[in-house]
Amino acid sequence: MPEPAEFRETPSRFEKKQTGGGSGDESSDCPDCDEAVDVGDKFCANCLDPALAACERALDLAAPRNYRLIHADGLVLRARIALAGGDAIAARNDAESALQIAEPCEYAWAERDACEVLAQAWRTLGNLVEPARYAGRAANLNRRLTPAAE
Ligand SMILES: [Zn+2]
Repeated sequence: MPEPAEFRETPSRFEKKQTGGGSGDESSDCPDCDEAVDVGDKFCANCLDPALAACERALDLAAPRNYRLIHADGLVLRARIALAGGDAIAARNDAESALQIAEPCEYAWAERDACEVLAQAWRTLGNLVEPARYAGRAANLNRRLTPAAE
């Protein structure tokens, strides 16, 4: 199946676009999102729908082509969008799917990200056991992925 040009321009891990200048400033292009971050959200309400649409497009491209790493990243991103929109059940389902793809690929970054989302989603759902389990697993993966300080 030919690879659409648009797909090749998709950042491999959906990293936030760097604004350049090397200022280290993590703020987005949207002033409302910057305010949302101040109150603990990742997106403002106006940005959730476009973020979801872009995410669905990436999933539509990745899934039938068996691009499993991008598929896992897309599911984690959609889970985060669901969490930001207050849908913890959708977040849990997407994060569980991401985990099922990431594990056999040994894609530890997506595994860690999925576990982080699962901890938050289960916490939001009032589960008392799963948040600690997934948070612990995410922390272990994070230690493996972080170079030890010399
Ligand atoms: Zn925004």
